[in-house]
Amino acid sequence: MAAPEPHGRYGRGVRTNWSGTVAFEQPLVLPTSLDEVRSLVREQERVLAVGSAHSFSRAAVSSGLHLGTEDLPADVAVATDRSTVTVSAGMRYAELGRALHVHGLALAAMASLPHISVGGAVATGTHGSGDAIGTLSSAVTALQVVTPDGDVREVRRSDADFAGWVVALGALGIVTSVNLAVEPTYEVAQSVLLGLDLDEVESNFDAVFGAATSVSVFTRWRPEPDAQLWLKRRVDREGAWTGAPNFGAQASERKMHPLEDLDPVHCTEQLGHAGPWHERLPHFKAEFTPSSGDEIQAEYLLPRVRAVEGIRAMRAMADRITPLLHVTEIRTMRADDLWMSPAYGHDTVGIHFTWHKDERIFDVLPAIEDALLPLGARPHWGKVTCATPAQLVAAYPHIDDFRGLVNAVDPRGKCRSIVIESLMSA
Ligand SMILES: Cc1cc2nc3c(=O)[nH]c(=O)nc-3n(C[C@H](O)[C@H](O)[C@H](O)COP(=O)(O)OP(=O)(O)OC[C@H]3O[C@@H](n4cnc5c(N)ncnc54)[C@H](O)[C@@H]3O)c2cc1C
Repeated sequence: MAAPEPHGRYGRGVRTNWSGTVAFEQPLVLPTSLDEVRSLVREQERVLAVGSAHSFSRAAVSSGLHLGTEDLPADVAVATDRSTVTVSAGMRYAELGRALHVHGLALAAMASLPHISVGGAVATGTHGSGDAIGTLSSAVTALQVVTPDGDVREVRRSDADFAGWVVALGALGIVTSVNLAVEPTYEVAQSVLLGLDLDEVESNFDAVFGAATSVSVFTRWRPEPDAQLWLKRRVDREGAWTGAPNFGAQASERKMHPLEDLDPVHCTEQLGHAGPWHERLPHFKAEFTPSSGDEIQAEYLLPRVRAVEGIRAMRAMADRITPLLHVTEIRTMRADDLWMSPAYGHDTVGIHFTWHKDERIFDVLPAIEDALLPLGARPHWGKVTCATPAQLVAAYPHIDDFRGLVNAVDPRGKCRSIVIESLMSA
């Protein structure tokens, strides 16, 4: 396809995702206004929104033009009742967190890395952790979308098909701005406990994950009790951590990286020092800008009631997993009602794997999926999986509603990524 006429800036050469594992062969355009987005979408036969290209899956790969939203005006407009904000879809959470804090406002959740775009995160069901905290997508109250015909559509929570529009992997057009639920700003204190035994996680799952507003367990699945328990406590609700319960683990007296051998300099502050929510909920600091990563990620979102079975199954496969693994993170999230959200319909637990960049992981993933998919696990849309399209769609009770919505909004398939194409025909 010929490069489009000058609208914004164009990428040169072959771009890749953040980890360098997915190539984008088609040109990238970065429009600077809503009108530019509209005319680009109208002119193109195929066009797909891209965010900050952090996905490990091919969710942001299309055979047509790639349209990035990062150069759209990065406004944050606060509603008069201060319960929602309207933000550009191309903004990154790092920038949004700082802006909201200045307004005295906060989000309920952040992902581990704050450098991802709002549009890309909500389109894939990205999440942080917390028993009472939903995915980042579940904070969406409205969207402004340039639909495949180039029209601008406002989609609101009161619309009958809203639940299909939020986690949509770009298939319904270019989301240009997002309304997010916010609350008054708050402080969080983060503590890391060392030497956690996975037996304790299995036998006391609800107590471990209920120990703070946002809890993560990091493990390498080794038999020794060497998992890390990261506790992020809201100071306004929970106060400072008193040291108990500790589930047999010990509070670290020095700052930790999830991989105990690595320098924690880029991790957010720990040791119980309270600070603004956006500087504690992500594990990594916004000032640290990793331009690429020597890793591949996979993650499985299980119904919470099956999580302990999933953990047991992974422990039984540790000899295959550990040699290829940087680290696993286990997190929780509240159910949501978004049709294609991995947390649709039930409280959910994510079992995440940060792998070495090693092709042999693709020999292990099918075995992991043979164990977890029968428990109802849904692979993360932004991470790698060996699951077939038929297995993916089988995990979503509203897949036919979603496919109907995509066909109604985009009958000619203008905005379909490789992943969406495969789901439409599965
Ligand atoms: C280091 C690292 C840490 C991570 N941590 C977490 C984590 O803590 N929790 C978690 O759940 N995930 C995590 N992820 C995964 C990540 O959140 C997702 O891959 C997310 O989609 C990345 O956002 P992005 O802006 O890079 O989106 P992209 O990869 O650019 O795009 C992803 C999808 O969103 C669509 N999209 C992007 N922008 C728009 C738009 N404006 N309108 C419509 N559709 C759009 C694209 O078409 C594509 O389908 C992590 C990834 C990395 C690399």
